[in-house]
Amino acid sequence: MTRYFTRDALLPQGWARDVTLEVDARGDIASVQADSQPRGAQTLGGPVLPGMANLHSHAFQRAMAGLAETRGASQDDFWTWRELMYRFVERITPDEAQAVALQLYIELLKNGYTAVAEFHYVQHPGEMLMRHLAAARESGIAITLMPSLYRWSNFGSRALEPRQRRFDTGPADVLAIVEAARREISPDVNVGVAPHSLRAVDPGSLRELLGALGPGMPVHIHAAEQTKEVDECLAALGKRPVEWLLENHRVDERWCLVHATHMNAEETRALAASGAVAGLCPSTEGNLGDGIFALPGYRAAGGRYGIGGDSHVSRDPAEELRLLEYVQRLTARKRNLVVSQVSEAVGTTLWLEAAAGGAQALARNMGAIALGKRADLVVLDGGQPDLAARSGDAIANSLVFGGTPGLVRDVMVAGKWQVQQGRHAAEEAAAAGYKRALATLLA
Ligand SMILES: [Zn+2]
Repeated sequence: MTRYFTRDALLPQGWARDVTLEVDARGDIASVQADSQPRGAQTLGGPVLPGMANLHSHAFQRAMAGLAETRGASQDDFWTWRELMYRFVERITPDEAQAVALQLYIELLKNGYTAVAEFHYVQHPGEMLMRHLAAARESGIAITLMPSLYRWSNFGSRALEPRQRRFDTGPADVLAIVEAARREISPDVNVGVAPHSLRAVDPGSLRELLGALGPGMPVHIHAAEQTKEVDECLAALGKRPVEWLLENHRVDERWCLVHATHMNAEETRALAASGAVAGLCPSTEGNLGDGIFALPGYRAAGGRYGIGGDSHVSRDPAEELRLLEYVQRLTARKRNLVVSQVSEAVGTTLWLEAAAGGAQALARNMGAIALGKRADLVVLDGGQPDLAARSGDAIANSLVFGGTPGLVRDVMVAGKWQVQQGRHAAEEAAAAGYKRALATLLA
């Protein structure tokens, strides 16, 4: 048993003072005591928040960050971005994918993510997903592996295009990958399934896949990211994507609808009532010009959400949360929108809600500093000028809205320190491997 003491910690009921935490040998939180004395405890280097889950990652897209920001011949939108992504997909080898994933996962850890859901649809039969598991283990981040079902290029079971060949998977392929991956399950490695989207799966394949799953297994799907997808879904299935999913499947706590950007008021209310998580990816959705999620109405209906890095144009949870709130402010022309009964502070509310929603989406016992949860801790740098003379809500608000990068000092995953004083032990080696992979990928 190891004891830690901190002056400020973000607990589920809000910020607490003088908190002693005990972490047991399994990596679980064994006790949480506020208003305590630091007796016999290691004093942490600053305020402590629960580790954040990154609920939506396509790790290989990390290598594209910054490369799709020049205007092409036609008007650029999501569909032209996808052309560049396909060029990467045609080339990337398992070694390169692992090198990119390792670099990414270390960056995620250094910013306060302690777990990631890897939504993987580029095959090299079976091997690619396990390379992501290897990268996760090397970095120390917890992972939920989400092998993707990807059969068609569009609604109406249109055959895959030549460049989409590496996505080609049927329900039996996905279940075989799941079966192999299940041998690796532990408190910090989990497995789910990721039917890519309603345009890439047909209703029969989706039913077949979901019918074969064990209880409680996470199900993630891209839904309603683009208005074009909504229009095509209406034409093909007679319903909007979220509406169709809610009517045709038992969408519940196991589900994460990634993006869910374009919902009408009824879909917003019904998704909130389902208990599923909306997987919001603010930096990627902004980068791709997707649209704006109806967060105020969804939260008012009790909707759960978490954050994902998706294409990884941001690897920083504080930045994702800031963007999430700012887009709503720009739309509503009002300030301080995401607040709750727990806290009137937006930074505190966003962090707590996204951490809890992300934990649910990954089906991992994390997302709160509480008895029995995995000991995933994000320790901020108490010596930073931008945290000076702050306590409680002002700490989370400064982290999310203060505009200072690098406030995270130490990061613990399941009782083990993976980042200490801003450094990860493998960061130089990972960066060298990443540069080598990019030299080949971009050649
Ligand atoms: Zn995605």
